[in-house]
Amino acid sequence: MVTMSEKPPVAPASNFIRNIIERDLEQGTYASRRWAGSPGDAVHQATGGPDPAKIRTRFPPEPNGYLHIGHAKSICLNFGLARDFGGVCHMRFDDTNPEKEEQEYVDSITESVKWLGFDWEAFGTSHLYFASNYFDFMYRAAEYLIESGNAYVDQQSAEEMRINRGTLTEPGKNSPWRDRPMQESLTLFREMRDGKHADGSMVLRAKIDMASPNINLRDPAIYRIKRAHHHNTGDKWCIYPMYTYAHPLEDAYEGVTHSICTLEFEDQRPFYDWVLEKLAEGGLLAHPLPKQYEFARLNLTYVVLSKRKLIELVEKQLVNGWDDPRMPTLVGARRRGYAPEGFRLFAERIGVSKADSWIEYTILEDCMREVLNASAERRIAVLDPVKLVIDNYPEGQSEDCHAPNHPQKPELGHRVVPLSRELWIEREDFMEEPVKGYFRLFPGNMVRLRYGYVVKCTSYEKDAAGHVTVVHCEYLPDTKSGTPGADSVKVKGNIHWVSAAHAYAAEVRLYDRLFKEAHPGQGKHEDGSDRDYLDDINPNSVKTITAQLEPALKDAKPEERFQFERHGYFVADSKDSQPGKPVFNRTVTLRDAWQK
Ligand code: ATP
Ligand code: MG
Repeated sequence: MVTMSEKPPVAPASNFIRNIIERDLEQGTYASRRWAGSPGDAVHQATGGPDPAKIRTRFPPEPNGYLHIGHAKSICLNFGLARDFGGVCHMRFDDTNPEKEEQEYVDSITESVKWLGFDWEAFGTSHLYFASNYFDFMYRAAEYLIESGNAYVDQQSAEEMRINRGTLTEPGKNSPWRDRPMQESLTLFREMRDGKHADGSMVLRAKIDMASPNINLRDPAIYRIKRAHHHNTGDKWCIYPMYTYAHPLEDAYEGVTHSICTLEFEDQRPFYDWVLEKLAEGGLLAHPLPKQYEFARLNLTYVVLSKRKLIELVEKQLVNGWDDPRMPTLVGARRRGYAPEGFRLFAERIGVSKADSWIEYTILEDCMREVLNASAERRIAVLDPVKLVIDNYPEGQSEDCHAPNHPQKPELGHRVVPLSRELWIEREDFMEEPVKGYFRLFPGNMVRLRYGYVVKCTSYEKDAAGHVTVVHCEYLPDTKSGTPGADSVKVKGNIHWVSAAHAYAAEVRLYDRLFKEAHPGQGKHEDGSDRDYLDDINPNSVKTITAQLEPALKDAKPEERFQFERHGYFVADSKDSQPGKPVFNRTVTLRDAWQK
C-alpha cells in the first residue's frame, strides 16, 4: 500500500474509468442500445427507441446499514460520470438477500445520496430501482441456464462442496450430480422454488469448470433455498439468487453500460461476463452487455469504514448512534457539519485508481475547510472565557460595533455586535507574564478588540487557587474600528470578545478524531498480540463546554454552518438544538493540529 499525502491535481482529472468511457463513446460501443423506459429483458428493451442516456452507471447499496465516507466516493464517481457524459446513474437497492433489510436504511440511503447533491431523475423518469423486483427474471434466467446445459442442481452437502472445490493450487472435483439429466435438474429446481425441499438440501450451480484456476468459476452456486421473509416480495420465494449471479443480471436488466465496483470483485468479473454472455446467447439479454470495472476502495487514516466495525461501535455504545458526529457515516458527517461540496471536492481530489492506498484524513478535512472558508459566515465565539472589564467605559452603556459576515464577500453584509463595559475574552489571550513574541493582553500592553477599540491592560485579579478571574483594561475612545483615525494607535495584537451582558452561553461540542492511530487496529501490541481497532479509540474525541457566543448566534438554525473566528468551523446541531437555543458542534479546526 502507498500512502498519499500530497494533493493530486485539481479536478476534473482524467482517470482510467473516464478514459474507458471516452473510448466507448468515440467507438459507439453502446450506440445501438435500446431503452424501453424501464428495466427489462431483451424483448422489452427492443420495444423502445435508442437509449437517450449515453451511458448508464449505478450505485447499488445493500439496504442493510448506513452509508459511510467510502460510499461517498462511489456515489460521486458513479453519479459524477453519468452527469459528465450525458448519462444517468441508477439508484438501485441491492435487496436480493432477504435478511436484515429495512426501510429505515432505504430512507437514510436515499436521503444521503440526495444530500450529496445527486438525484436519479433523468429523461423524464425516476431511476430508483429495487433488485428484488427482478426475481422473476432471475428465476427465468436460471431455468434457461439449466435448459441450455449451463446449470445443474447439486445435492452435495455444504461440506462436500467445500472439499470438492479444491484450493488455489489444486483443481476441484466434479460433483456426482454435475451430469444429471437436464430435465431432472429442471424438475428439482422447480421443486426448490415450490418449497418441496429443505433449506440447504440442494443448490443450483452454474456448470463452468471445476479445474479453473479462478475458484469463482468452479461451478459457483447461483440459487439457494432459504425460507425467509423478504421486505418486498414477502413469502413468495423460498429460493434466493446468490449475489454474484444477481448482480450482473441486475446491471444488464437495467441497461447499465459501465458497472463500477471495488477491487475485491475483480476475480468475479469472468463469471459476470460468462453469465451475461450465456443469457445473451439465449436471447434473454441483448448485446452490448454491461462491463464491470474495478477501482480501489477508499481507506482513510484515523477512520474505520467496515460495516461490521461501525455496527460494533454503535452497539457497544462507544458512540451515540449512527449519526454521532464522530462517526464516518454520512449522517454523522452531516451532523458534524461536513458539507456535501466538500465530499465532492474530496472525491475529485483523490481520484480513482487501481491500487489500494490509504488517503490521509487531513485531505478530507482540508476539502471541508476549503468549501467552508468560502461559504460559512463568520461569527465570534469565546470558548474558554475570562472576564475583561473596561474600567473607563460607563456602566450600563453599550454601543454597536459592525462585523463583516465574510471578509472576502462584502455582499454578505455585516452584523451588529454590542460592546459594553464587561466582556468575555479567551483565557489564552491574557498572560500575567508574556512569553517572547506574545502580543496579546498582559499588564501594560495594548491590543485591538476586533471590530472595536484599542484597549490597554491595566491589572488583573486572581482567585485563591491562582487562576486569573478578571482582567482590567482601559479603552482609547478615538480608536474605534471603522472611524476616522482609528489606526492612529498601532498595536500588534487583535483579539475577539463578546459582551458579557449580551452573550449567549451555549453548549459547544469540540469534536476530534474518533481514533488516535492512523491505521486503527493494525500491527501488534508490545507483547506480540494482535491489536484491535477498539484499542485505538481516542479517549478525547469530544469535549463539551459552555462557550460565550455573540448574540446573533442565538438565532442559528439547525445545520447552519459558521466560522467561529480564530477557532474553526461549527454547525448548529440538528438534533439537540432548540428554537432560540442552538447547540454547536465543531466541524473542523482552522488548522490541522494532528500534523506531525
Ligand atoms: P458490505 O459488503 O459489508 O455489506 P459495503 O460497504 O460493500 O458493505 P454496499 O452496500 O454493498 O456496502 O456498498 C455499495 C457500494 O459502495 C458498492 O458498489 C461498493 O463497492 C461501494 N463501496 C463500499 N465501500 C466503499 C469504499 N470504502 N470505497 C469505495 N466504495 C465503496
Ligand atoms: Mg458490498
